[in-house]
Amino acid sequence: MPILTLIYLLASVSFIAGLKMLSNPTTARRGNLIAAAGMLLAIAGTIFGYHDETGKSLGNYGWIFGGIFIGAVIGAVSARKVKMTSMPEMVSLFNGMGGACAALISIVEFNHLVKAPPVDSRAELLIILAGLLIGTVSFTGSMVAWGKLNGKVKDFAFPGQHYINMIVLLAAIAIGGWMLAHNLLSAPLFYTILVLSIVYGLFFVLPIGGADMPVVISILNSFTGVAAACGGFLYDNKAMLTGGILVGAAGTLLTILMCKAMNRSLLNVLIGSFGGGAKAGADNAGAQGIYKEVSLSDAAVVLAYANKVMIVPGYGLAVAQAQHVCHELEKLLTSRGVEVKYAIHPVAGRMPGHMNVLLAEADVAYENLLEMEQANEEFPSVDVVMVLGANDVVNPAAKNDKNSPIYGMPILEVELARSCIVNKRSMKPGYAGIENELFFSPRTSMLFGDAKKVLQDLVAEIKNI
Ligand code: NDP
Repeated sequence: MPILTLIYLLASVSFIAGLKMLSNPTTARRGNLIAAAGMLLAIAGTIFGYHDETGKSLGNYGWIFGGIFIGAVIGAVSARKVKMTSMPEMVSLFNGMGGACAALISIVEFNHLVKAPPVDSRAELLIILAGLLIGTVSFTGSMVAWGKLNGKVKDFAFPGQHYINMIVLLAAIAIGGWMLAHNLLSAPLFYTILVLSIVYGLFFVLPIGGADMPVVISILNSFTGVAAACGGFLYDNKAMLTGGILVGAAGTLLTILMCKAMNRSLLNVLIGSFGGGAKAGADNAGAQGIYKEVSLSDAAVVLAYANKVMIVPGYGLAVAQAQHVCHELEKLLTSRGVEVKYAIHPVAGRMPGHMNVLLAEADVAYENLLEMEQANEEFPSVDVVMVLGANDVVNPAAKNDKNSPIYGMPILEVELARSCIVNKRSMKPGYAGIENELFFSPRTSMLFGDAKKVLQDLVAEIKNI
């Protein structure tokens, strides 16, 4: 077996093993490193081990290493600097680069094909066109998603936009079909497809609510994977093919899981404009009745003398960067003999696994994190639930109110516990923009303030008890 084939095989195995290890926080870091080492091996193998039919090696080393150096510096610096809450933004940007890369490969290879056309170029042309269309949509779509997540791009829609989008996409596919049917290597038609793909990518993501971006990024991620797999076909490069297919499949599965956890169809995410802002319920906050407030010192006493406490982290905890002080509270309570666990909702926060990663960063033991089903079984035996910056994922309307936009979404049933303390800054709604009846329950007390500050003060109070 040629050495390069062996290298690609090893790289492919490392991608699969790495991906498998990512499914558990205890092995995730190692999994990431193993897959990265496999990628390094594949890149080095290609640069130094590739020879064409005439025995010529790759060449262009100045360009290749220059590109690798610039990319590595930008990647390493931005990955070190990025905040946990900006992670979806970063994923979006990197994903867009993958899409752009696949599209550029198609452009380069189309020009090669035009210069030396074979008698029948259709098989190659099909892969080139697929890579161009999918890669470009992924690039422009990801750039819009990135802009929306960092607040630079606003939601934008006009009547009939979805139909126009469909027409643009169908036009691009029809032109590609025409080129294939007639074995036509026409540059004007090729670049028309490029322009249509750019327009489609922009218009596809622009109307989708900013908070739905993680789901969109996940779909675009799967697109990038498929576009990269096209490159793998084109170059008969097994590592690129396996890597692309894995990304495509993982992105698709993640999209399905996220939609399931929110109990929404993919179509609803793509055309529903759900979660566009927190305005929807803001005006009628308080319409459901009177809520009860608890003082910091009373909350400290209730927590300190409880037998069992369940912490429910949400998006607000991540925004406040309160994970470390949250862990401190947990340790303090545990040292006083209180049993403390965390209830993790699958879509708490703004990206899949957000809470797990956040708490792992603060060294919270993995065995203390309960998944939703386990947590729901335990709530009836819990003395105090401490909700920290979570809202939609604990909203009983998902079970009780058929008219609620989140009806049917599985939730953490915190209302089953003996008492509940909710920490947030105001009565404003969460991501879905709807009011939460939990806040008005007789068993619930509100503890207003920034999660980090409140937790720091709670820790200080409990130390004085
Ligand atoms: P929510 O957005 O429902 O609620 C977060 C709450 O945190 C807000 O009500 C806010 O209230 C509060 N908050 C904000 N900043 C702070 C702070 N500094 N200190 C204390 N509280 C703060 O978050 P959840 O985690 O409950 O739910 C996640 C939502 O995101 C779900 O609707 C889910 O479907 C959606 N989603 C999740 C994805 C994922 O993959 N995880 C992907 C896409 C969507 P206030 O302003 O009053 O402080």
